[in-house]
Amino acid sequence: MLKGKSAIVTGSTSGIGRGIAHALAKEGVNIMTNGFGDTPETIAQVKSEITAFGVQADYNPADVSKPDQIDAMMDATIKAFGSCDILVNNAGIQFVSPIESFPLERWDAVIATNLSSAFYTSRRAVPLMRSKGWGRIINIASAHGLVASANKAAYVAAKHGIVGLTKVTALETAKDGVTCNAICPGWVLTPLVQKQIDAAAAKAGISKDEEAKNFLAEKQPTMQFVTPEEIGGLVVFLCSDSAKQITGSAYSIDGGWVAE
Ligand code: NAD
Repeated sequence: MLKGKSAIVTGSTSGIGRGIAHALAKEGVNIMTNGFGDTPETIAQVKSEITAFGVQADYNPADVSKPDQIDAMMDATIKAFGSCDILVNNAGIQFVSPIESFPLERWDAVIATNLSSAFYTSRRAVPLMRSKGWGRIINIASAHGLVASANKAAYVAAKHGIVGLTKVTALETAKDGVTCNAICPGWVLTPLVQKQIDAAAAKAGISKDEEAKNFLAEKQPTMQFVTPEEIGGLVVFLCSDSAKQITGSAYSIDGGWVAE
């Protein structure tokens, strides 16, 4: 039922976003990919992975922390595909520091990239979706949208914020055939997490594999990383007709993280 629809997936040149883009493309959805500072080789590779599913792919270099660049990406998507039926707000960054030494500039960057970006895209997507009587907005939050960890002030604040934004967007679109939900993954072994594992391993003087096990042991009872493919599967379900009464929810996919 998604065949011929079009989606924007922010931050889809890496990790989770790339997995989501593949899962939607497999269902026949045309994809506007997006990322920050990607090389021409990466962009070509990302696009060819999507067109291999027999759908159209484009790339937009919008820095999602900048509202004017989001506007340009929305305009380019309408021009390329006619509309934006599915919006996946996925782009995100991390910064780890105790609150007293958390750099102001990093706070602003994390809030703008992980939270304000979803407001900038949603305010443009909602009228488009409403006019068609169908739409899906999926915000990639985190287990950190529901519970906290030390040294992640900006990330945890942004992810709790995006769960709140999800609920407001759901209420404002409830009668319009549009749903808005959040997905809250636990650890997924992407570059964003690998950097944290590498830093912690170097600090503790142990191997990266050993530190990866420590990350899982601390938070994720299944002791396994969630995969981008599994998150892509959940996105496809939330876009399906079976999920049309699911709106304003925050779905955990975290190996049991927030159950503890
Ligand atoms: P990643 O580093 O592999 O990919 C991040 C993507 O976002 C890249 O495509 C990058 O180019 C893009 N991006 C970063 N800043 C951008 C900007 N200003 N404008 C446009 N694009 C930008 O990270 P990931 O692990 O795949 O994370 C994706 C999302 O999932 C993030 O919102 C992250 O917070 C969330 N998440 C990740 C995990 C995890 O364990 N990896 C867990 C929970 C939630």
